[in-house]
Amino acid sequence: MAQVLQKRLAFIGAGNMANAIIGGLRQQGLAADLIYASNPEASILAELQQTYGIHTQTSNLEVARQAEIWVLAVKPQILRQVCQELSALARQQRPLIISIAAGVTLEMLGDWLGAQDLPLIRCMPNTPALVGAGASGLYANAQVTEEEKASAQALMQAVGISLWVEEEALIDAVTGISGSGPAYFFLAMEALAAAGEAQGLTPEVARQLSLQTALGAARMACENTVDVAELRRRVTSPKGTTERAIQSFEAAGLRQIYQDAVQAAVTRSQELA
Ligand code: NAP
Repeated sequence: MAQVLQKRLAFIGAGNMANAIIGGLRQQGLAADLIYASNPEASILAELQQTYGIHTQTSNLEVARQAEIWVLAVKPQILRQVCQELSALARQQRPLIISIAAGVTLEMLGDWLGAQDLPLIRCMPNTPALVGAGASGLYANAQVTEEEKASAQALMQAVGISLWVEEEALIDAVTGISGSGPAYFFLAMEALAAAGEAQGLTPEVARQLSLQTALGAARMACENTVDVAELRRRVTSPKGTTERAIQSFEAAGLRQIYQDAVQAAVTRSQELA
């Protein structure tokens, strides 16, 4: 990773996501000297500087001036103002610009930066990035070189996996699966714990069994080369308890419930863009 990312990086906005990515990059050995971050709140920067040894400034322009890659990590509603602040420098310096803001299209970014021909990447991360287990979808415009794509991918892989989609519209599908996805699994854990309580377990025992089962299943699925459908079949003995539960899920239309829920999230993501 460190070899791919030998460029100076500027994080514009040093909140949760930027912190997680900077932490991941430092953990993977990227030199602190290559990382810059800006934020209006100086105390946040002092903490970042102390923890990771990176360069920090309250001025977005000052950190952006130092870097070949800009990561726009402010809230979507602030992004327009930030882009306008950086637009002249962006056109003059032509950095690779990576936006992680939900619902902001490359066309909007181009408009706000005052040029549609800048190298831009749109990234949709998710909250497990905060624990190094994120899943990000990436889309690059035609101005982004293969080398820049490799840098962007290495950057997001510091906090999990990152995958490319071939069309920008598919970022809405990424939002529907992995962007919003952690909440689907939290809901499943909540529901399983509630079912345990309904069977007489104490709330704490039901909660722990539910969470650990989710963790164990996710680890088995991720650490195995075997397909998840096959893993499910292997723990579903004929006429056994699991088979009865799976039949109950299938009879209730669980697969269609997932299709409908993801469609609802994708539609909402399209409305917000
Ligand atoms: P966050 O914790 O609120 O971080 C944003 C940071 O930007 C804050 O520290 C904020 O400082 C700072 N900021 C505000 N105005 C600024 C300005 N004019 N210039 C520079 N910095 C400024 O938000 P986050 O959760 O890291 O999210 C960042 C981006 O990631 C968002 O666009 C979001 O859509 C995207 N995203 C996040 C997640 C997620 O799971 N968290 C998932 C997908 C996408 P103050 O707090 O002092 O205002």
